[in-house]
Amino acid sequence: AALKAGILSTPGQRRVAVVPAGVGALRDAGLEVLVEAGAGAGARFRDEEYTAAGARVLPAEQVRDSADLWLCLTRPDAEVLRGMRSGQAVAGLLRPLADPGLMHQIAGLGATLISLDGLPRTLSRAQPMDALTSQASVAGYKAVITAAAAYDRYLPLLMTAAGVARPAQVLVLGAGVAGLQAIATAHRLGAVVTGYDVRPEAREEIASVGAGVLEADAPGGAGEGGYARALTADEQRAQGGALAGAVGRFDIVVCTAQVPAGRPPLLLGTEALERLRPGAVVVDLAAGPAGGNTELSVPGQTVETANGALVIGAADLADTVPRAASEAYSRNIAALLAHLLDGGRLAVGPDDAPGDEIRAGVLVAHGGRLLRPDVAAA
Ligand code: NAD
Repeated sequence: AALKAGILSTPGQRRVAVVPAGVGALRDAGLEVLVEAGAGAGARFRDEEYTAAGARVLPAEQVRDSADLWLCLTRPDAEVLRGMRSGQAVAGLLRPLADPGLMHQIAGLGATLISLDGLPRTLSRAQPMDALTSQASVAGYKAVITAAAAYDRYLPLLMTAAGVARPAQVLVLGAGVAGLQAIATAHRLGAVVTGYDVRPEAREEIASVGAGVLEADAPGGAGEGGYARALTADEQRAQGGALAGAVGRFDIVVCTAQVPAGRPPLLLGTEALERLRPGAVVVDLAAGPAGGNTELSVPGQTVETANGALVIGAADLADTVPRAASEAYSRNIAALLAHLLDGGRLAVGPDDAPGDEIRAGVLVAHGGRLLRPDVAAA
């Protein structure tokens, strides 16, 4: 019998792992496709569209029960995962390091855990599967739209009969995937854009999307796998001072800095934020429960500084553009499955393609064992 893939909604998410237009590719790969009723509703994909694409729409419990492979966006609830059977698999952005204890438990059930956030980012073969990139790109775009909507002036230079409006000065802190998309978006809206990152190689990338580079005595912060490393306390102090000195001349600041598996770096302390002009807007994509890139960031909230600047804690922005984000994710997951399937079988055992960097990156658990050393050690 064909392997059954089940598209499931995940709590709090409007995005869906596979869009109706992506069902055909899964069927072509030999899968039978089930979908939870209403799974696409948050992104306005209707059940009938899934049916028309050849998927079978069922209640969530039936999909979870019948599917060999669950396809999700983010991690399902713990109790849902605890209901997995030996031999069942789940694929999604599972963030295994955020709850290693749960990963241990689910591994112990004999279920297979496949997490797209473990993909080797710099491997070109993995790029079509790179869901962190596709979602960060959406978030970087929406960060600028969010800032523009909250800002009380124009972004572009406007010459009108009533006079000239100067263009907004936009600073983007962290020039990874989200930051580069934010730079490009702000640039298209006519702002004058400046970028900043600790990785030396980011300078060229900032320039290539049309921005100036902030000279702030950045310490060389390159880490492993193309990521930044966490800075030392001294380096952080130096960086904080440099940014505080520079930030006052900007109208909009988009913060996107992250380091792997750590709390996001604190780039703008209260003093730096007080230097912002009234009406200036900070959008912090790094805002989360552990803090963000600014001292005032609260996820899901807008905080006003004493001087009248706004600090928007904008966690999970990709989910506020759910159709585009789902369409991209759906292509990512189809590409990953095309790589992992072999003759209609999920080929993720120890004898399947040994040495494959993609499998080594995404496989968190299989055959009763936790396979990611970082998760096992956490
Ligand atoms: P990320 O979300 O981990 O971090 C965002 C950015 O914040 C990074 O550019 C990082 O250097 C920067 N940052 C971290 N600490 C900082 C600090 N203290 N001050 C200023 N900036 C700081 O990164 P990401 O966007 O997921 O990208 C990770 C890496 O993977 C990048 O090097 C990216 O270019 C690379 N990548 C490569 C490919 C590819 O080769 N095609 C695809 C995707 C990502």
